[in-house]
Amino acid sequence: MKLGYYSHTEHLAHEVGDMHPEHPMRIIAIEHQLESTGLLHDLQSCPIDNLDHADLVRAHSHGYLDQLARISPENGTIYADKDTPMAVGSLKAAYQAAAAVTTALDDIMMRRIDRAFCSVRPPGHHATRRQTMGFCFLNNIAIAALKAVDFYGLERVAVIDFDVHQANGTIDILQGDERFLICSSFQHPAYPYSHWQNIYPNVINIPLDPNSAGVDMRRAVEQQWLNALQAFKPQLILVSAGFDAHRADPMAELNWLEEDFNWLGRFIADIGKSCASSRILSSLEGGYDLKALAASAHSYISALAE
Ligand SMILES: [Zn+2]
Repeated sequence: MKLGYYSHTEHLAHEVGDMHPEHPMRIIAIEHQLESTGLLHDLQSCPIDNLDHADLVRAHSHGYLDQLARISPENGTIYADKDTPMAVGSLKAAYQAAAAVTTALDDIMMRRIDRAFCSVRPPGHHATRRQTMGFCFLNNIAIAALKAVDFYGLERVAVIDFDVHQANGTIDILQGDERFLICSSFQHPAYPYSHWQNIYPNVINIPLDPNSAGVDMRRAVEQQWLNALQAFKPQLILVSAGFDAHRADPMAELNWLEEDFNWLGRFIADIGKSCASSRILSSLEGGYDLKALAASAHSYISALAE
């Protein structure tokens, strides 16, 4: 199984202060863990193509994209929303993250690799079509999803999001489009406090109680996602891989352990196998305790690299 690894030094240039949890060290911690365990050498380190802005406008409005470029500061830091600081290197880092996922998609569709992990920041899944939210400027996974159907002609794309926060931005962009099945698990109640009931036919939310454990997630995933995903028969699985449901994470109150992310990796790989599709593209979302993030990402990636 060829798993492509996508990352870039540009992601470290999104520097919004040492007190902010969405810190450049997140990428370094993951890479260090992959390197020290030898797993990085089993992955295929892949170059990232230049961003094609045509890929962004499928997911975001022209007005929003223009506004991001207009407010991007030449020095210092501004707030693009109340939680989302934007510094000199932020927009370039966001473009680079979108370029990583679209390059990974291209490589998967051209059969250069089978699976991909994009170790990128800023994250993307809270960004809506027209709004910056929750540390996110561009919705990387929605950008890849829309390119997969509009450019590559796929008819069924599953989006799995196991970040501890609901995939409100991805749902905003992809809800109501039957080419997508969106499966989002998250702590409830918690940020972003958006629609957590299943009000959209192509969205299966799994709200999880604060302080619940990985075993509760596993049971809910098997009960609520397994049959739906198998019936949907995705030709491609996109994953918003957030690791902030870990017990040590400071941003939420779920009690998952590293093994739970390995279980999720194997669950997702099995869904792909049962649908005769090995195409799985994961992109980093949250995860703010560096040690837990590195161990959890390693655990997840090792399941998909087997
Ligand atoms: Zn999160």
